[in-house]
Amino acid sequence: MQTQRLRIAIQKKGRLSKECQTLLKRCGVKFNMVGERLVVHAENMPIDLLLVRDDDIPGLIMDGVVDLGVIGENELEEVSLERQARGEPSDYKKLRRLDFGGCRLSIAIDKDAEYNGPQDLNGKRIATTYPQLVKRYMDDLGVKFSTCMLNGSVEVAPRAGLADAICDLVSTGATLEANGLKEAEVILRSKAVLIQSTETLDDEKQALIERLLTRMQGVIQAKE
Ligand code: ATP
Ligand code: ZN
Repeated sequence: MQTQRLRIAIQKKGRLSKECQTLLKRCGVKFNMVGERLVVHAENMPIDLLLVRDDDIPGLIMDGVVDLGVIGENELEEVSLERQARGEPSDYKKLRRLDFGGCRLSIAIDKDAEYNGPQDLNGKRIATTYPQLVKRYMDDLGVKFSTCMLNGSVEVAPRAGLADAICDLVSTGATLEANGLKEAEVILRSKAVLIQSTETLDDEKQALIERLLTRMQGVIQAKE
């Protein structure tokens, strides 16, 4: 179902939302975030912003429900692998990497444990929100493991006796340290990215995307 207006899905509330809104504003998109709205209409361009949970953004793009989205590569790649495994649409176009949302997805273990390399993870249970990315990494190395799927409080899983190790997002490492863990392997370095659905858009919408991209280029370069 295509609409005349370009639909952009962004995180409603969280680590990507503020910088994402700032970027769009610097690109000249005028809008006013009021209340708990799902859709916010831009005032000066045929653009609608969809404010959703970040987990929903890859699927909205892959199903062609929205045209553009801003999402962390960690979430994007996890959902893409999950959909591939289920035989669901998993294609998207990566338009550009952005200059925010930087973090790494890392495997962490007890800070006092000896660690000499991935083989030391053999047979371990790893608590994570990203089972597909962990599987891809461990399968490539040929290391056997099991997972414990957690959507929150991943870092307390070892202490709670639910898992031997974790695989979670890290930025400073302070959370790991506070939970008596140390980083053992970085499995993905992630940033926020702008993605587009693979649906063919009408010329006007596509031209608007090109214009936004050009502006984005300028805005990001000006900051560097
Ligand atoms: P939502 O309610 O939308 O599902 P969330 O709790 O899943 O939110 P956030 O914690 O807001 O998500 O993180 C969104 C994204 O921000 C992450 O998927 C990641 O790409 C990026 N990010 C950057 N730094 C960090 C960090 N230190 N910890 C977690 N995520 C980070
Ligand atoms: Zn989320």
